[in-house]
Amino acid sequence: MRPEDILAPTPSGVCCKLGSFHIDPTLPVERALITHAHSDHARAGHGAVLATQETLDLMRLRYGDGFAGTTQAIGYGECVNLGGAEVTFHPAGHVLGSAQIAVAADGLRVVASGDYKNVPDPTCVPFELVPCDVFITEATFALPVFRHGDPDEQIAKLLRSVALFPERAHLVGAYSLGKAQRLIALLRQAGYQAPVYLHGAMEKITDYYASRGVVLGELRAVRGASKAELAGTITICPPSALNDVWTRRFPEPVTAFASGWMRVRARARQHGVELPLVISDHADWDGLTATIAATGAGEIWVTHGQEDALVHWCVTRGVKARPLDIVGYGDEDDGDGEES
Ligand SMILES: [Zn+2]
Ligand SMILES: [Zn+2]
Repeated sequence: MRPEDILAPTPSGVCCKLGSFHIDPTLPVERALITHAHSDHARAGHGAVLATQETLDLMRLRYGDGFAGTTQAIGYGECVNLGGAEVTFHPAGHVLGSAQIAVAADGLRVVASGDYKNVPDPTCVPFELVPCDVFITEATFALPVFRHGDPDEQIAKLLRSVALFPERAHLVGAYSLGKAQRLIALLRQAGYQAPVYLHGAMEKITDYYASRGVVLGELRAVRGASKAELAGTITICPPSALNDVWTRRFPEPVTAFASGWMRVRARARQHGVELPLVISDHADWDGLTATIAATGAGEIWVTHGQEDALVHWCVTRGVKARPLDIVGYGDEDDGDGEES
């Protein structure tokens, strides 16, 4: 058996013929296994969906009850046999409920990791290393220039700015699923106890995180707050709201944006961001290369945009590697595209 007999790459995602399923398909299919609830991986309209309970709940919050014909929840470490393929889900450390999906048959194991990061995150279970023969990796930040650094330093930078400008409001652009909640949790870890204000688009998902036991402290809706009340506060909003008339309700807002892309100055300028915060839910260059090496995989399949450098890195180390030309990953729903 070859790895391609376990998971065959197609332009709309990888497909397991043995078990009659696709992983994170970008087009509607009979049976989908979903790594996590970001919209480029988790689409509505599949016949049956197998995913973690959190991913199913988040999909329901975003798409409504009828998002799939049927659903089945699976826990981390649990095993299901689909047509002779042994399937297990393992934590990916990316967002709440995110999983790597391992598919094994005939003594060969392929791991589809979805999106992942190998650094601590108070809002989700840490990444688990799964030894395998073929590792399918994302390449969102797969260039040596991307080194995310310590998120706590970025939070400290934000808190210094808040202390420096008590008369101004701080608006922090962050993707609504994962990054927003991680920011709030990091602020709490840093000892920030004041209420955190939320843009309306953040409320449902943030409430869901809190209901799953993620410690987020006091949260308030921006809706209904007076301009005076918002002085000296922190508000989390979708990146797209940073340049919206919505910001006029805030006193002299300082705009920040939390994203791995903030390592690139031009990106910050393009968003009109005064306070770029380099905080990412994806592995950086060191994280990607360390993880790839640690899996022990003899073959690497690469998705998500910046495949070339990572493929090259693998090949120079004698590891077989190739890009998977899957169309449609890497565009999260808000802002100007990629979730990061
Ligand atoms: Zn994602
Ligand atoms: Zn992705």
